[in-house]
Amino acid sequence: MKVAVIGTGYVGLVAGSCLAETGNEVVCVDIDAERIELLKQGEVPIYEPGLKELVERNITKNRLLFTTDTVEAVEKSLVVFMAVQTPMDEDGSADLRHLLEAAATVAKGINGYKVIVDKSTVPVGTAVKVKKVISELTKHKFDVVSNPEFLKEGAAVDDFMKPDRVVIGCDSPQAEAIIKDLYEPFVRTGHPMITMKVTSAELTKYAANALLATKISFINEIARLCELVDADVGEVRQGIGTDQRIGSAFLHPGMGFGGSCFPKDLRALLHTGKSNDLDLQVVGAAVEANERQKRFIPDKIRANFKDNLKGRRFAVWGLAFKANTDDIRESPALEVLDFLINAGTKVTVYDPQAMDNARRIYGDKIAYASDSYGALEGVDGLVVATEWNEFRRPDFQQMLDMMSSPVIFDGRNLYDPERMRERGFQYYGVGRK
Ligand code: NAD
Repeated sequence: MKVAVIGTGYVGLVAGSCLAETGNEVVCVDIDAERIELLKQGEVPIYEPGLKELVERNITKNRLLFTTDTVEAVEKSLVVFMAVQTPMDEDGSADLRHLLEAAATVAKGINGYKVIVDKSTVPVGTAVKVKKVISELTKHKFDVVSNPEFLKEGAAVDDFMKPDRVVIGCDSPQAEAIIKDLYEPFVRTGHPMITMKVTSAELTKYAANALLATKISFINEIARLCELVDADVGEVRQGIGTDQRIGSAFLHPGMGFGGSCFPKDLRALLHTGKSNDLDLQVVGAAVEANERQKRFIPDKIRANFKDNLKGRRFAVWGLAFKANTDDIRESPALEVLDFLINAGTKVTVYDPQAMDNARRIYGDKIAYASDSYGALEGVDGLVVATEWNEFRRPDFQQMLDMMSSPVIFDGRNLYDPERMRERGFQYYGVGRK
């Protein structure tokens, strides 16, 4: 099948490459010309395990092309995925500017029947808006389908190739048959393609993210209580996570959820509720609890140093909002970083993949180490902010030798509190005294 994908970010590039991998002819489009030039040469501008190999292989097989020309890409394609960003607007709603602009350009390339797919995360009612924009600019027949994406950054290729489910919101049998045909190779393991009303598909994505984020806020709250009553959140987590009705996923306590999706999607969902005179109380509580959790490590740091922080030196291991990605959008690590900078400390950071992204924001306000140990020389404390595997079993003796005071604020519970104390560290975790 001939497919165009508009937007070559984490979702668009992964979707485009995976669709090419199953034999489709895919043209990926972006308005960022520099990005497209890099991609044409097989350079992948984001870090996502397995993605570079996938892009290279499909470029070589001539199934994956890159262009800045949306109109031409649409002209050649039957299916057009729109995977542009939908960031948070000032009032918390989803900002649909990029999507509707993309839709208007897509309309100019419509030269026969097309299936336009909303892949971006968009609020209920967006498919109607997209349809309106396009129908004002073309006389040709087209359908708009909502096909939200559930991939996780850090495992995006795997998730796209083997999705738990494919959600297709559609009111046209013709478009439904085409989209099902396209996804058929991805659900050979028996996972379902679920067709539903367009509005249900649009809402499904937000409901899924809100429920996952609520689990995180819930366990973070329990972690706080654990510290006060001398319980261990790791043990409680195991105790509840083994209940099949609950499940153990998304029950890791930490520094609060971040990333490019949960924070904006929960706020957009709250906004949709508000627009319909419904106060979504559980979602609101998950957001509020998360705001409090982002201050968890800063509060521990302040308490440990009795607010005497000016001039002290800190290392921060991990900047990405989670492991296996270079994405630092809304990363809780940045909250800690901002806190340390504002408190007048000198900070050296290290992240295996996210250093370039951090440099773009922080410039010379902080120092950048070339490896984890390089950040530790003479520091008063270390904050572990991302659960990268390489931070899990470091050389603790080397750390002790390098740090001027061996205090660790472990925002991801990577280490065992008891053993860290035996090793000679002053150790703070989350929900474990
Ligand atoms: P991104 O910011 O990484 O990428 C968006 C890309 O679209 C950018 O490269 C941008 O230049 C391009 N773009 C913007 N306007 C364009 C236009 N008119 N024509 C062509 N290209 C254009 O975004 P992302 O993280 O890939 O997210 C895309 C959408 O998918 C969002 O709605 C997001 O909420 C949703 N989503 C993201 C994830 C995730 O993990 N990142 C997962 C599921 C869903």
